[in-house]
Amino acid sequence: MTLAVAQVAVPVPLPRLFDYSAAADQSLPPVGSRVLVPFGSRRLVGLVMAHADVEAAPNIKPIERLLEPALIDSSLLGLFAWCRRYYVCPPGEAISLLLPGALRRTKPFRRQAATALALTEQGRAADLSRAPRQAETIELLKQGPRERAELKAAGIGSDILRRMLAEGLIEAVDRPTVLAEQAGPNLNPEQRQAATAILRQRHRFAALLLAGITGSGKTEVYLRVARRLLARDRQVLILAPEIGLTPQLVRRIEKRLGCAATVYHSGLSEGERLEAWQRARDGRARVIVGTRSAVFLPLANPGLIVVDEEHDGSFKQQDGARYHGRDVAVLRAARLGIPIVLGSATPSLESLNNVEAGRYQLLTLSERAGGASLPRWQVLDSRGSDGILDQRLETAIEKHLEAGGQVLLYRNRRGYAPVLICNDCGWQADCRRCDAHMTWHQRPARLQCHHCGAEQRIPPRCPDCGSPRLAPLGAGTERLEGLLTERFPDVPVHRVDRDAMTGRADFENLLATVRTGQPCILVGTQMLAKGHHLPAVTLAAMLDVDQALFSADFRAPERLGQAVHQVAGRAGRAERPGQFLIQTRNPEHPLLAALLNDDYLGYASRLLVERQAARLPPAHTLALIRSEAHQAEPARQFLVAAARCLRHKNIEVAGPIPAIMTRRSGYWRFQLWLQSANRTFLVDHINQQIDNLHKLPNARRVRWHVDMDPAEL
Ligand code: ADP
Ligand code: ZN
Ligand code: ZN
Repeated sequence: MTLAVAQVAVPVPLPRLFDYSAAADQSLPPVGSRVLVPFGSRRLVGLVMAHADVEAAPNIKPIERLLEPALIDSSLLGLFAWCRRYYVCPPGEAISLLLPGALRRTKPFRRQAATALALTEQGRAADLSRAPRQAETIELLKQGPRERAELKAAGIGSDILRRMLAEGLIEAVDRPTVLAEQAGPNLNPEQRQAATAILRQRHRFAALLLAGITGSGKTEVYLRVARRLLARDRQVLILAPEIGLTPQLVRRIEKRLGCAATVYHSGLSEGERLEAWQRARDGRARVIVGTRSAVFLPLANPGLIVVDEEHDGSFKQQDGARYHGRDVAVLRAARLGIPIVLGSATPSLESLNNVEAGRYQLLTLSERAGGASLPRWQVLDSRGSDGILDQRLETAIEKHLEAGGQVLLYRNRRGYAPVLICNDCGWQADCRRCDAHMTWHQRPARLQCHHCGAEQRIPPRCPDCGSPRLAPLGAGTERLEGLLTERFPDVPVHRVDRDAMTGRADFENLLATVRTGQPCILVGTQMLAKGHHLPAVTLAAMLDVDQALFSADFRAPERLGQAVHQVAGRAGRAERPGQFLIQTRNPEHPLLAALLNDDYLGYASRLLVERQAARLPPAHTLALIRSEAHQAEPARQFLVAAARCLRHKNIEVAGPIPAIMTRRSGYWRFQLWLQSANRTFLVDHINQQIDNLHKLPNARRVRWHVDMDPAEL
């Protein structure tokens, strides 16, 4: 006897869907419904992915309750089905990708009434010169009432709103947001050409790569196009990297578009995420700005997707469903039949390869907007110095500060020093659980492993020889901050890294201070290098290229080129010309020469030729099978057996080889490389063999997964 069942995705890491029959006296809920189902002794929230007729069996249980019928539309379900196959992830990932956290719970979720806030007469008249955050709120509300979520997106915390409500400066009202639209600058000819080219495709799918040097006005181009689509009542989805998504960007978007933006990122509360998700789904959210997970937001009436800083590593998810937000966004646009714009000053080799293959259209902006010019570049050979702060670099800093400029120093290492070393016997403090040195931090004093998070006290003496002569080797941002404060006592030195900037608000406040234009020194990690427009910076310097020059990761030269151009691009963005310095012990390295003698696109096209010759991505498709275990042998053995399953004449199988960091968090890590000229074939082949991999003897003794288009080795 056959039975009609719903095939349900539930949040468990098993590689299959589960069958459920209809609840008593009810029909099967439609595909895309959110349901409550019994699972072992638990009850879980599930999503109905499909219907099927199966042989009746006593273990098929009925659905307990239908929560919402057809919550997820077929276009998103189709997108997920593609991801599930391509990224080889369990179908249960549908729950975390397609539902906001609040809808993953079995408890019903109560929704807060979305009240807007407006200025009162008293608020309009108040003198808040001594309360800058409140004054800022008033400025925003002068344009019209705003919803709480919108104010939060613009960086206004709920504590401030509560205080202002209590003081009668603002009041809750029930009016929708209408903002005054501000005209942007007149686009220059290149910008106009780019905007026209995008708009020409507004009725169909097209992927356009907007490659514009730093400060060339890419954002103005997206906004011009977005405005046209909004005017036709279409929604615009803008994806940005984790740390690029700042209230400054959100406010700029709102001002230009005359329309409140809905943000979607991990910094929101569960309730706020649900609210944003619902607004996107029912079309109230017209402009949505989010990080990679926003690519799966339901959209009532989509018109355009923009991926800003498309080369950024944060678009790739590193656990669970290991999807690439940019690539999924392109696929989504294709399925929706709308254009997608990928923007960057330093496009990924993946996107450049797609341009070469005719899949993406290239639009270039080759000049800085508003007449600013690119900075002068210079390499400082630091072999004769301590390699921390070169004397000539100090002189340059002094000169720029005296001329009233700001200085930005990039060092992608947090902490005081990357290594603590014994000056007598050469002992170095290493992590017990990783193949890595512990980083020395001074405030608070500790040794910390940046890979597993382990912490230790700083030993007073060398544990090997007992010597008290323990010293730092190299310098992280914390030590640089100290050195700079000592040498330039009259200017503020701001450190920008995850230790110094614990919340979004810290970073926001600092950016606001820096934008006042007073001379200062910024020293920080990649947090500092990305996308920010800091018009008073005239000197930018990169203090650590040497490691990247010798990295074993085939993507290192690409990332180095991107970092160098992004950091250089922070200098001289306004009237005053900029200068860019690279401090290195390897001034003759061919990669540096290649970087200096060409622009980014020229450099990148050379790298692309090398990747093609080596049959590496993006010329060929690469998939890794990673495995890890507390002992090396089972992890390796699993991959030896997996290699046997996967061998095929159209696929190059290499390994098992140890990961670049072979031991991390106490796990031994190995990987199998699968390379193929035929992407579809590789994906099909892995999917055909996946059941066999699950049946291998060690499959349950080791942790393992497939990573398509891996970003880390
Ligand atoms: P990108 O996104 O390429 O880094 P932005 O769009 O942020 O560049 O522009 C950099 C700066 O130049 C901004 O201050 C912006 O307002 C300004 N700008 C952009 N386009 C023009 C233009 N056509 N005329 C004058 N200024 C412009
Ligand atoms: Zn020692
Ligand atoms: Zn560690």
